[in-house]
Amino acid sequence: MKGGTDIDIRRLNGVAEKRAQQLAKLGICTTEDLLGFFPRDYVDYSHPYPIASAPFDTKCVVRATILGKGGTVRVRGGRQLIKVTAGDDTAGLVLTYFNNPYAPQKLDIGGTYLFFGKVGGSFAVREMINPIMVTLPAAEAAPLAAVYPQTEGITSAFLSKCVRAAFAVSPDIEEPLPAFLLQKYRLCPRADALRMIHFPRSQDEVHAARRRLIFEELLALQLGLLLLRSRGAQRTGAPMKPVDPAPFWAALPFAPTGAQRRSVDEILSDMTQKAPMNRLLQGDVGSGKTLVAAAGIYAAAKNGYQSVLMAPTEILACQHANTLEPLLRPFGIRTVLLTGSVKGAAKKAALKAIREGEADLIVGTHAVLSDGVDFARLGFAVTDEQHRFGVRQRSLLAAKADHPHLLVMSATPIPRTLGLLMFGDLDISVLDELPPGRTPVKTYAVTGKKRADLYGFIRKQLDAGRQAYIVCPLIEEGESDMQAAATYYEEIAKPLLAPYRVGLMHGRLKAAEKSAVMDAFKAHELDVLVSTTVIEVGVDVPNANLIAIENAERYGLSALHQLRGRVGRGGGEAYCILISDHTTDAVRKRLSFLCHTNDGFEIARFDLETRGPGDFFGSRQHGLPTLRIADLMADSRVLYAAQEEALALTHDDPALQKPENAGLRRLAEALFSQDTALN
Ligand code: ADP
Ligand code: MG
Repeated sequence: MKGGTDIDIRRLNGVAEKRAQQLAKLGICTTEDLLGFFPRDYVDYSHPYPIASAPFDTKCVVRATILGKGGTVRVRGGRQLIKVTAGDDTAGLVLTYFNNPYAPQKLDIGGTYLFFGKVGGSFAVREMINPIMVTLPAAEAAPLAAVYPQTEGITSAFLSKCVRAAFAVSPDIEEPLPAFLLQKYRLCPRADALRMIHFPRSQDEVHAARRRLIFEELLALQLGLLLLRSRGAQRTGAPMKPVDPAPFWAALPFAPTGAQRRSVDEILSDMTQKAPMNRLLQGDVGSGKTLVAAAGIYAAAKNGYQSVLMAPTEILACQHANTLEPLLRPFGIRTVLLTGSVKGAAKKAALKAIREGEADLIVGTHAVLSDGVDFARLGFAVTDEQHRFGVRQRSLLAAKADHPHLLVMSATPIPRTLGLLMFGDLDISVLDELPPGRTPVKTYAVTGKKRADLYGFIRKQLDAGRQAYIVCPLIEEGESDMQAAATYYEEIAKPLLAPYRVGLMHGRLKAAEKSAVMDAFKAHELDVLVSTTVIEVGVDVPNANLIAIENAERYGLSALHQLRGRVGRGGGEAYCILISDHTTDAVRKRLSFLCHTNDGFEIARFDLETRGPGDFFGSRQHGLPTLRIADLMADSRVLYAAQEEALALTHDDPALQKPENAGLRRLAEALFSQDTALN
């Protein structure tokens, strides 16, 4: 939080330019950042192990008396080594220092110290290498030593020193929470909480500090979301006249499902309201969400409004443009594509068409959010695969016009807690019915030993005129996406599929190359597409009826279900082969679940139960700001309390403009400043 006492860390004692740069990598530039950089754990110096019972190969604290010091020895590689013998009543301990002549100098023979490190060696000769030493008085004063998230060259001890210096120059720490909240939830003041989280004297202090800081952070989160949302609660600039979707339905080559009709009716009715629509369209992979969006676009155009459809990847944006353009052209709706790779004259023309209202539908990636994209009269905004977009992007989209109607589409069922946070009071339409003629995708789990058989099976499908996707192994550390894909393509896929036409797709290809590959696959100029997971969302090639996924164990079940959804769209049998050499029970159970279930909601629930919420709550997926201390799942009760309080606070003071709420407003702004400004 940026208070009045915020000071650049370069002004702290002991923080030179190089250090400041290292700290900046941790997001620490000011004293406020330092105080808000919380330990991830503590080393407890108050309960040292007797040396004989200290566990091997686990970091722990022992207390030892120094018995003797050896001289400096040079060992292989030019390293310096000093050995110090020590011990307690239970056993001896050799302290070995590599390239660290100063540490042993601080030890007096006969003196007793605490050492933190891993015990190695043998029962006969226990050893600790480069231990951290703490004196008995120091441990008494600070029995729990903070362990901070690490970065290159920055130790926890150094961070503790910086935090101490930050406290020294920030004597007055502002209290952002109103007194009634501190009382109601029995929370300690912020100043105490910060002291206790960095320099706790006991576990109780750690708990008290955490309780207070978690509440504060979740309250800031809820307030920030409410502030963002309050901007949308105004009247829309685009209340529309009712539109009958019948002509649109009549123009389709097939009849809409009941669920599609129902969702479209809900959307078209929302569009006639004064408040802007805020609706989530949730439907399993292949349930036909695109058509529902198209009906909304049709209705907006009938009212003279532009629509925008935003997709998370270029491939998907191109595909949407290609599907929607011919569908909507007969109604006089003109589509333009705007992605990062639309450049030069084409871009100029697109921007002009958007600005002057010659384009009725703009399909694109988040390029549509950039400055310079000005809509003539945007009335309807759709985001596809919403869970990939952040809160910020959604509000940027809303800000592109005078509160257009907003439809967010997702195939990922979202747990309730997260749904509330991400969408607040969104209305929900559910596509709970698949278009007719879909046969469940037959799913099998195999080991890599079966790869040759599998490729034989793929060739059979290709001979029958069908196409296949192969999702190649995920990258190993240090390997690029491109290398992994290219190696697999050259060494496995091509040789095993020799006479067939095999294409390669990976994230490093230029957008034009990507769409060329995709188009070739769509046009059946390629039989097989070897790809990284860039094909994960939304891609629609009905003739493809087989997908094989290498390293299947490394994906969440929902992600696998998404991938599987690429096939089974064109009638006939469809297959999904999960390849994994990890045959632990847990992996087998997970993959086997997928083999027996085709229901995305069931799969998401199983994923949640077996893997925990990490998949959903991992910060990347939901676009919420990164939290420093609270855990949305573990702290969900506090989350609800914070939500209640946030609603009450903003009920009385919607924009938090009263002086007594200034601290709260700053808290919320600071949390969201990494992500978005609230103004
Ligand atoms: P998703 O919900 O996964 O985005 P899509 O919108 O991509 O699904 O639709 C999947 C496929 O189903 C497309 O090929 C689309 O043309 C087709 N489809 C959609 N609705 C129907 C329907 N009512 N009847 C038959 N096919 C449909
Ligand atoms: Mg889709």
